[in-house]
Amino acid sequence: MRCFGNYYRIMRKRKDQRERVSLYEFIAQFETEDAAMAYIESRRWVNGRQCPRCGSESTSNASHKTMPYWCKACRKYFSVRTETLMQGSPISYKKWLMAIYLLSTSLKGVSSTKLGNDIGIRQSNAWYLAHRIRAAWANNASRLFGCQVEVDETYLGGKEKNKHQGKKQQADQIIQGG
Ligand SMILES: [Zn+2]
Repeated sequence: MRCFGNYYRIMRKRKDQRERVSLYEFIAQFETEDAAMAYIESRRWVNGRQCPRCGSESTSNASHKTMPYWCKACRKYFSVRTETLMQGSPISYKKWLMAIYLLSTSLKGVSSTKLGNDIGIRQSNAWYLAHRIRAAWANNASRLFGCQVEVDETYLGGKEKNKHQGKKQQADQIIQGG
């Protein structure tokens, strides 16, 4: 599966050398909401599902409407949104992924009006999404999808040692543009 990771690494090339994952290709990966959720889960829980609150690996599926897992240790429901920037948001996983894609690929930034129009949500919700995504980036993005996975200025799922200061500043300019 092609992912942000590829895209972000590609972004580091000179402008005329860039290849990119097109919006079409990107969206085609997530035809359903379940596919989008599974993708985020695979990025967040690289080594298997863990409770976002206590870290226990002793979890099970649950029949809760919005939180499909149950932690046997702290006895609470959770989902892949729990303890991330998506926590408490009614916006679908697909739309979150699209918003992240659009914000990360726009060199000049994206207005909340355009973002809302592009992904089919109200401007106020788009503003909220963009605000949270940018805040996560500004915080080194380590909690965008939880502590194990980074959607940072370089790529999603990367390691700290692979970051470079110059690139970081460059990317900061990109994401602060709008
Ligand atoms: Zn727990």
